[in-house]
Amino acid sequence: MSELLSPQKRVLVIGGGVAGLTAALELSRMGVDTRLVEKGVFAGGHGAYLACKATDRCLKCNGCLVEDLLRTLSEERPFEIKLQTEIGSIGRKNGGFRAAFKTMPPVIDPEKCTRCGVCFEKCPPESKGMVLRAPSRHLRPYYAIDPHVWLGLDPDRRKRLESLCPEGAIDPNPTEMSWAWESDGLILATGFEPFDPGDKKAYRFERFENMITAEHLDMMLRERGRIHRVSDGRAPENVAFIQCVGSRDTALGHGFCSRICCGFALRMGLRLVHDDPGVEVTVFYMDIQNFGKDFDRYYHEAREKMRLVLGLPGDFYASEGDRIALSYYDEGAQRTVTGEFDMAVLSIGLMPGPANPFFRDNLDLVADEDGFLSLPGSADGLVLAGTIEGPLDVAESIAGAKAAAGRMAKYLGDRK
Ligand SMILES: Cc1cc2nc3c(=O)[nH]c(=O)nc-3n(C[C@H](O)[C@H](O)[C@H](O)COP(=O)(O)OP(=O)(O)OC[C@H]3O[C@@H](n4cnc5c(N)ncnc54)[C@H](O)[C@@H]3O)c2cc1C
Repeated sequence: MSELLSPQKRVLVIGGGVAGLTAALELSRMGVDTRLVEKGVFAGGHGAYLACKATDRCLKCNGCLVEDLLRTLSEERPFEIKLQTEIGSIGRKNGGFRAAFKTMPPVIDPEKCTRCGVCFEKCPPESKGMVLRAPSRHLRPYYAIDPHVWLGLDPDRRKRLESLCPEGAIDPNPTEMSWAWESDGLILATGFEPFDPGDKKAYRFERFENMITAEHLDMMLRERGRIHRVSDGRAPENVAFIQCVGSRDTALGHGFCSRICCGFALRMGLRLVHDDPGVEVTVFYMDIQNFGKDFDRYYHEAREKMRLVLGLPGDFYASEGDRIALSYYDEGAQRTVTGEFDMAVLSIGLMPGPANPFFRDNLDLVADEDGFLSLPGSADGLVLAGTIEGPLDVAESIAGAKAAAGRMAKYLGDRK
């Protein structure tokens, strides 16, 4: 393959989620000079925050696929990843592409950081939450500070945090760098944006401490190995999952199905019941979408171990003990009833990424009515990967990214 791609070709990958990382890994293994840019402080995208939902057996939730990918990347270090990098301009040039970027260097230098964790654990109260820990131990950096937040702090606060680091790894004044890169090929893998539950006004998300998003629940389970109520740290005795939050909602202008939410709620519910057989799980749904591997098997198990209620709740009220009361139509009783829950989890959908209009306009892409992107008829050297094209789960994003890398390699080979 390296002969096919000689002289060495260059490919720029934008977006460091599972799709971008997979495509970049595949291409660099073929001998392509690959560079990946990611706007966040960590690579891995949303997939890196997924918790394993295994009970006494694997439920094929795909969480470990992300972990395997990150481990491979940390061992092989096959291509350069530019974190904290924002794109300024992009366009076609000399039969390839030219893009210009602004990169903020890391506040915590990963070369000096020994992962001792002092900055994270002993962070002064006024700067709580400032130091971020990567969702996976395979990620580098492992501790980070958002440079834009950092530079907004007064110098005294910066100094106090800086002096905590025994390695002197904290840079008090990181300075933005501008740079540009020309490449033969371009892979866009900028992913999706989770639905903002505040936009679903009827749910009054901000009012309830114990109403959280599916993403929040995943992070909680991943970090602590158990779930708890935000208000008091207590394990919930009953949990409601509310499906289709932001998706299949024509009032919000989002008619599409996010595809991953039913699988998420049923697998997560099974994991919660497995961890604590006393917990009652109720899933409010419109209809169950059976995407993903072995769905039928665990759907039937879910029907035995959890309550599945056809219909989404209408009204939400605060109830004693920071509980959430919600009213819904009970098919059995044939009337509207009220249920009270220790915790409500909103299964938020996958929305188009905020950069989609920028790429559509600068690279002549096609946006569908929901805002997801596709290529026009011919788009030499340009490939899309992952959820930039529409909702996908991790396994689909990885498979699609491998195919995208294959298409790119063929294009580069044909062009030699
Ligand atoms: C609540 C929830 C639960 C889920 N549960 C599951 C599950 O149980 N199993 C499963 O398989 N899937 C699940 N998913 C789906 C899974 O998260 C996605 O399939 C996966 O993250 C898609 O990867 P991606 O690389 O396409 O996008 P992303 O994960 O969105 O990654 C895109 C990356 O691009 C970066 N980026 C964006 N714009 C720019 C830019 N302009 N410049 C540079 N970088 C940029 C982003 O910062 C991000 O790191 C869930 C999703 C949600 C929301």
